[in-house]
Parts: sequence; structure tokens; C-alpha cells
Amino acid sequence: MIRKISMLAAAAGFVVAATGAFAAYPDKPISIVVPFAAGGPTDVVARSLAQAMGTQLKGSLIVENVNGAGGTIGAGKVARAPGDGYTLLFHHIGMSTAPSLYRKLDFKPLEDFIPIGAVVDVPMTIIAKPTMAPANAKDLLVFIRANKEKINLANAGVGSASHLCGLLLQNAMKTELTTVPFTGTGPAMIALIGGNVDIMCDQTTNTTGHIKGGKVKAYAVTSKGKLANFPELPPLGADLPGFEVGVWHILYAPKGTPADIVAKLQSSLQAAIKDPGFAAKMKDLGAEIMPLDRQTSAGAKAMLTSEIAKWAPIIQAAKAYAD
Ligand code: ASP
Repeated sequence: MIRKISMLAAAAGFVVAATGAFAAYPDKPISIVVPFAAGGPTDVVARSLAQAMGTQLKGSLIVENVNGAGGTIGAGKVARAPGDGYTLLFHHIGMSTAPSLYRKLDFKPLEDFIPIGAVVDVPMTIIAKPTMAPANAKDLLVFIRANKEKINLANAGVGSASHLCGLLLQNAMKTELTTVPFTGTGPAMIALIGGNVDIMCDQTTNTTGHIKGGKVKAYAVTSKGKLANFPELPPLGADLPGFEVGVWHILYAPKGTPADIVAKLQSSLQAAIKDPGFAAKMKDLGAEIMPLDRQTSAGAKAMLTSEIAKWAPIIQAAKAYAD
């Protein structure tokens, strides 16, 4: 009997300790892994979100860039991290395309992660080095077709959004181009501005300042219609019917993260998205805030599930594999 009571007390003690631990969450810095190089578009959004969520959680969220292999190295690292709320992943559409692009992947997007919520949807722009000759998107496509052996396409590695966009472009044009992978489109942008690579497709969260500053030549947007920030740029779909790609971002925790921590992260993500500084920055950079039902764990999971199903046949048709 005495033994039974002390076991119950121990169990109760454990509950008290666990509740105490949660009540204190976060009691140390939270790491947000960005699976691309610093200074790129995923990094830019992650850092703004980290700051706004830090205010909500009264803690610090530190961005850690774990680059390589189109975002799959960083995602794999978080898949194997402890589910304690102190390691998170901020990723993009690559989470839904990597399972089709890689024959072997060391993580399972739907099983190894708990989505916290979707944050923004970001259109892409087709940009080129400043000395690129064609005057508009139509002429650029003619120029690419005529010079396909000479033109190269920068991207952030197989599985990245720039890789996907380039794949769709080559597929729509029935043309194969040389691709040049970087650890993120931050470094790729430096090469493009310097004229060391020719063309790139990248999120407006990276390209807006460089386009407006005249550092690169912009030809088209990848959204269905025109963008308010770039009324002069046509949608690429006007010349390549059906061409459309947008880059959504979701914040994830590794599997095993307790439900109360996931709930706390979800509500702080929703509050951070409403932060006037965050919202204004996203608007300036052409990013669209996700609807509230997707800023939830369930809504983000449903979105990821349908995006995996959407891209699989497209990637299979393009016969694109990483290995
Ligand atoms: N924009 C990149 C991509 O193409 C990633 C990045 O550097 O954020 O996926």
C-alpha cells in the first residue's frame, strides 16, 4: 500500500514538474533552422517571423542556416531533432516537392514533422543578369531557345523553389538548360548581379530590392495575374500558358513535440503574423499573408498533403530526379 502511494506521489510529482516545465516554455532560446543560406528569401521571412514570435513568446528565436541539397539537409536535421519545442524548421514548397525529386530522402514530410502553421505565400520573378539583352519576356524566351547551349540557370539546388521553377520553365519551353546550384538564392543573387550566371527564378522576398534598385533585369512574374508591386511585369503564363508557381512557407516542429507546446507556438505564430512590422515588411516584399485557417497546425498539414499530391505527377512528367 505504502509503495502504491509513493508511486502515485511520484507520478503526481512528475505531472507537476512537467506542467512547471511547460509553464516556463520557452526557458531558453529556440532555434529555427532555415535550410538555405543567410540573406536569401526564406531566411528573410524566417528572421522577421522569429523577431515577431520572440515578442509574443517573451523569448528569443535564433535562425540557424543549415544549407545544402535544396533544403533537404536542414529539413533532415530537424526531423531527427528532439521534439521539445527548442528546434523548429522554417521551410517552403520544397517540403512537398522533395519526396518526388529525391529517390532517397532521409525524412518523411508528413510523418516526421508537426506543422505549426503556414505563414506567407510568395510569388516568384524571372530575373536575369544586368547585361541580358532581350527587352521583354517574349524576347527572352526567343533568346533562350536560340542560345540554349550558352544560357545557364542559377538555383538553390535540387528540391529548391528556384529549381522547381526552372524545371517548369524548361518543361514548358521543351528546352534543356545548364543549371548552376548554390546553397541558397542569396549567394546566387550575388553571382547574377555580377554577371557570373544568366537567369534565375526567385521569390519577390529576395528580388524586390534588386529589381527596384536596377541591379538585375526583371522579365516576368510567376503568379497567375500581375503583381501590385510590379505592374510593369507580365505573368509568364501569358507566354507559357498554365505556368504558375508560388512559394508558401510553413513553420514545423519535429514529431513528438508535446501538443501544448505546438498550441503555444501556433497562437504565437498567428499573433506574430498580425504584428504591424511583420505585416508591413511582407507587403513591401510582395508576400501574401496566409488565410487564418492555414495559420493552424491542421490547416498547414492539409495544405502540405495536397501540395505533395499536386507536384508528384508534374515532377514525374518532367522526369526530374536528384540522384
Ligand atoms: N529561394 C530559394 C529557393 O530557390 C531558397 C532560399 O535561398 O531561400 O528555394
